[in-house]
Amino acid sequence: MKTYLSLSLKLTIIVVAVSAAVIFSLTIYNINEQSIAFENIYVDKAKDTAAVLDILWTEPNANSTIPHAIESIQEKNKESIDYIHIFTVNESQTLLTFSTNTSQYNPSRMKYINHSIITSQIGKIKPESETPDEITVIVPINESSPIQGAYEISFLTSDAYQVFEQRATNLMFISTISLFILIFSFLFLLRHTIVKPIIQFRDTAKTLGKGNLDTKINLKSNDELGELAEAFNTMAKDLKKSRKKLEEYNKILERLIDQKDAFIGQLGHDLKNPLQPLIGLLPILIQQEKNPKMKEHLEVMNENAQYMKDLILKTLQLAKLRTEKISFEYEYTSLPDLVQRVITTQKHFLEQNNIQITNNIKQSIQVYIDPLRIEEVFKNLIANALKYTPKSGGEITISAEQKNGFVQVAITDTGIGMTEEQLAKIFDEFYRADSSRYGKDSAGLGLSITKRIIEKHYGKIWAESKGPNKGSTFYFTIPTKKVGQTNEKNNDS
Ligand code: ADP
Repeated sequence: MKTYLSLSLKLTIIVVAVSAAVIFSLTIYNINEQSIAFENIYVDKAKDTAAVLDILWTEPNANSTIPHAIESIQEKNKESIDYIHIFTVNESQTLLTFSTNTSQYNPSRMKYINHSIITSQIGKIKPESETPDEITVIVPINESSPIQGAYEISFLTSDAYQVFEQRATNLMFISTISLFILIFSFLFLLRHTIVKPIIQFRDTAKTLGKGNLDTKINLKSNDELGELAEAFNTMAKDLKKSRKKLEEYNKILERLIDQKDAFIGQLGHDLKNPLQPLIGLLPILIQQEKNPKMKEHLEVMNENAQYMKDLILKTLQLAKLRTEKISFEYEYTSLPDLVQRVITTQKHFLEQNNIQITNNIKQSIQVYIDPLRIEEVFKNLIANALKYTPKSGGEITISAEQKNGFVQVAITDTGIGMTEEQLAKIFDEFYRADSSRYGKDSAGLGLSITKRIIEKHYGKIWAESKGPNKGSTFYFTIPTKKVGQTNEKNNDS
């Protein structure tokens, strides 16, 4: 399943990420710069002290003047210098040579001292947890001195570092507050300028989709969204016009269909009445006729009269099925039992043509149908399967499966099959696939009636065939329970 992420949430995530990245990197950069500037003050002080001491190394009695000098520097700067160590290299060993306070000697720092001596670079040891108010600077002894080594000068930062730290914390706090203000102002702007109009578009589109073409977007804004709203409203207006035209055409079409149905109905009645005496009299005449030639003529007449009667009855039935007046008597019915009843009535023809029929419908399947009408559907489809299956050795299989409140029935035969073109037309009124199939029991109305009956059950009907002489399968769906109006129609597959 796809997770739904609203547009505003996506934009907010992007803005929060970008603003946080920009604001915090600027803040961290700023704090770093300040920290470097803060440390440089002490580096400068250390360099000045080292410069004074560097001069003394060139004097002959350096070993006695230097301790005095560092003691006096320490004394003068009691408030700011904690201690001064001087390390010198003797026979490739670095040793603490002079110190204002030997107890402060920390062997773990030797690696920094050696690094400074070797690289001739100034080293910094920032305030550490065990010496939080100290910053230590290591300055190598001037290269031109007769001696190689380094000064380690430890400064007392006292309150200065705390002030700096407090400033950094304040800066972080201000940055966080600014970030929140930025995000909230962005969200406010986003909601008013983009999200609200988009929600309006979405809701209006939904209302339009439901068929209410009078809805309109009320958005006055001089930008792309304003233009989109205008285009949207014009589209709704055009749709309304087209629908009006379609409705008019529909009305004309419905009137024409009604006229056609009324005409067919009337014609049916007008033809049925004069046919009635003929249907009644012909069998009696056949029975009484002694002349065999005459008897044969009368039998042909009778067959044709029966065909006409069948055609008229089917035409009238179809016209009636198209009207809303016709009522269906729905009830819960066992599908396998109903199919078995139909098979029994067709048994004689099946045996006569040596066609095997198999009812594979599970005993438990129940449907909510008008049983008489659905019996007619099965009769039509089984009769067709029989009619269009070559005489001997054919097979007809009936099966059913349940699908979303409907049962899908399949009637498969091993008969003459159909082409794609024929499949597309078989449900049209009076359609017969080809002239070779015409017979006196073929009016081309059976499938039209069947389709109407299935549609009255909110179902669907269709046929499939792999081609001529490859058999056919007719599928239809009928409900398993009471179906509401259009919304519950069987629309899948
Ligand atoms: P008809 O009275 O001609 O059988 P239908 O409406 O029942 O009229 O069928 C329309 C046409 O569909 C038939 O003429 C036939 O060509 C074709 N048809 C129907 N059922 C089958 C089938 N089982 N196999 C092949 N063709 C079929």
